[in-house]
Amino acid sequence: MPEIKEEKPKKDKKKIKVYTNKSKNKRDVESVIDNLKSKYESINAEEITKFCDFPLSSNTLKALRECGYHKPTEIQRETIGLALQGKDILGAAQTGSGKTLAFLIPLLEKLYTLKWTKMDGVGSIVITPTRELAYQIFETLRKIGQHHDFSAGLIIGGKDLKFERNRMDQCNIIICTPGRLLQHMDENPLFDCVNMQILVLDEADRCLDMGFEQTMNAIIENLPPKRQTLLFSATQTRSVRDLARLSLKDPSYISVHENLEHSTPKGLSQSYVVCELKDKVSVLWSFLKNHPNKKIMVFFASCKQVKYVYEIFCKLRPGTPLLALYGTLHQLRRMDIYENFCHKQSAILFSTDLAARGLDFPAVHWVLQVDCPEDPATYIHRVGRTARYHRGGESLLMLLESEIQMVDKLKEKKIPIQKIEINPMKLNNPVRKMEAFLAKDPTLKDTAQRAFVSYAKAVYLMKDKEVFDVHALDTDSFARSLGLAIPPRIRFLQRMHAMLESKQQKKEVGRSSNNKKYFKDSEDEGVSNNFEDSGVSKPKYIPKEPSKSSQSGHFQTVENDSEDDDILTVKRKDHDIDLPSQEEIAELDMGRISKKKALSKAAMAKKILKKKIVPNKKILFNEEGEAVTSGKTKKSELALQYENENEGGIDIEKAKQVLKEEDKFDKQLFKEKVKAKHKEQKRKLKEQKKKEREDKDDFGTSESEEEPDLSWLPDPDKVYNNENEEINEEEGETDRESSPNKKQKLRNKKKNKKNTNFNADSPESGPKRKRKKLEKLTLNMDVNEAEELALMLLNKKT
Ligand code: ADP
Ligand code: MG
Repeated sequence: MPEIKEEKPKKDKKKIKVYTNKSKNKRDVESVIDNLKSKYESINAEEITKFCDFPLSSNTLKALRECGYHKPTEIQRETIGLALQGKDILGAAQTGSGKTLAFLIPLLEKLYTLKWTKMDGVGSIVITPTRELAYQIFETLRKIGQHHDFSAGLIIGGKDLKFERNRMDQCNIIICTPGRLLQHMDENPLFDCVNMQILVLDEADRCLDMGFEQTMNAIIENLPPKRQTLLFSATQTRSVRDLARLSLKDPSYISVHENLEHSTPKGLSQSYVVCELKDKVSVLWSFLKNHPNKKIMVFFASCKQVKYVYEIFCKLRPGTPLLALYGTLHQLRRMDIYENFCHKQSAILFSTDLAARGLDFPAVHWVLQVDCPEDPATYIHRVGRTARYHRGGESLLMLLESEIQMVDKLKEKKIPIQKIEINPMKLNNPVRKMEAFLAKDPTLKDTAQRAFVSYAKAVYLMKDKEVFDVHALDTDSFARSLGLAIPPRIRFLQRMHAMLESKQQKKEVGRSSNNKKYFKDSEDEGVSNNFEDSGVSKPKYIPKEPSKSSQSGHFQTVENDSEDDDILTVKRKDHDIDLPSQEEIAELDMGRISKKKALSKAAMAKKILKKKIVPNKKILFNEEGEAVTSGKTKKSELALQYENENEGGIDIEKAKQVLKEEDKFDKQLFKEKVKAKHKEQKRKLKEQKKKEREDKDDFGTSESEEEPDLSWLPDPDKVYNNENEEINEEEGETDRESSPNKKQKLRNKKKNKKNTNFNADSPESGPKRKRKKLEKLTLNMDVNEAEELALMLLNKKT
């Protein structure tokens, strides 16, 4: 069967031989079809034991045989005949009872008997609530439709729209999620379903519930009214309104397990434990450690919890491979995880309710529900991931003391569930290790904080207030059980408390205000905690009065949970909430519990600017931690203008010009500083000279006082000649120097000596001295060196 599929291009356009005998001519085919059609009316479900008892095309029967499907299940036996007769059907059967084939077989047969070709366009659409389920149905269709010549397309979000768009017109069967289908209907001129013959809603109650209401209404508007409609689910809708929306014509309601004692599969053994919120992590950890090498699914209330528990448990290493599936993951990653869990013999899959419906993971041993499901239907679908098609399985539900009423509700729905006790001695609490990991990894800590807040929100948004009470949660100890030493702030709860308090005060001062709960509706298509594929409208409300326990929590860290506020959604339209007064809506807007647009970067920047926070502002602190104003101020006119004009961000070009201008001032300043330094040096030099001069005078006067008069001694120059001068110079100061004049002379000679060392032509060095010096120099020289020196001197002379 040819199909559109992005991830596995090799399978694209896979055409398997059309199961028609080529020797038969067209008329033969028509007669075969007529023959089949003629038998439709006489189909009796009671008499059917094998698929070949149905008047099905040989193409379908062959594929069924090849796939190992020989006997129809109950729901297949009851519905296939009616569907072949063209009836609208509401099919209800337990999870894992084979509903997929119950609608895929009649779908193929319908197109076959209509001799549907590629040229006829879209003949059938199957809508499912999640991408993974759509993919699973697509794979089943590929198997059982392999001998037909229809093309099929998997149209789900998170894939290349362009790719899908170009091939939409070639598709005879579309398997899709509601959002993406509507997108094509709205944006794709090639998409046309005016000829569509058969519409299927799998997990119909979910497709028709509040989350998809707007989308489904828009889709239905685009579909031809003359069509056959099949609805299937384990928890089938019977809402007259839903049926009216779909304009079903005299539908047949087939509920094959309605009269059974239990609404869940026979092979499923179900139990629940009552534990405190703070013990949930340790119960889960201990359970997983005690059930190694099993295939286990673990359900949580929100994506962020799944993410955190998955990440921290990966670090704790339970010994069994871990996987996590939730809506905020990238589509390819989701598919990869889905496939991975399908093929694993033993693994633990943490998940939101994204994986609760329809997914047929082979041989799941256990389903664990860490967080209470929102209603019995969700419970049924969650546990239905195990004990599928006559196999066995087990499930465990963790309930808080405050949620115990859920047990009665489950029992009302014919769910056999029994209480079991936890042996506290066997509990293994990993909290210390978790704390250590969080201390090392701030990103993980942030994930933990988000998980904590998102759990509180999930509970807060549950519609069933008899079961769920956010105020009954011991949030402080729950935070600690997640490894968080300080409980994060739950801002929406604080705001709610503040509002309720102010409301109370108003009442007290006589300003009556009605007791309505808060509600604000938004029709944004968004992502809810659990049903990430759905577009969810977002009524927001404040439930009953807070209890003391929740108010007692003092939250010390500041956690920005504004992002989480966007997913404040309730999951059903029949929410028990009243409309608010205008005053209350205004009040809510003040409290930021209002309809929110996605916060773009530009919007965030504007927000900052409004708050008059100057971006890129630099504050310097001294060692005492006090802010000090920067000594550097702008001087150029351009810079001042730039500073005044610039409200935020950096205009690189302008900033460059400003720097150039400022550079001129800096250079000027530098020059001035250098000048000043030179001036100072000169001044010091002058002072020194002056001092020296004064010193000389002082020396003259003091000398006469301190030194004895030795003028009567003979002149040493005359006695020792110049030779002694040299010696004296070399030895330093001479005691024989007596008179100040002679001392000065000696000083002068010392100076001259320095000169003579570097200047052989000094006028003061006599020829005799030169000779002596040369003699001295040449004393240690060899002949060559002396010759060289002599030549040099000769050259100089000439
Ligand atoms: P449901 O939609 O009712 O939850 P599925 O259609 O997913 O159930 O089928 C559950 C499992 O039963 C699947 O693995 C499927 O292959 C198997 N199955 C369905 N019909 C038959 C059949 N007639 N014979 C054997 N296995 C079947
Ligand atoms: Mg199903």
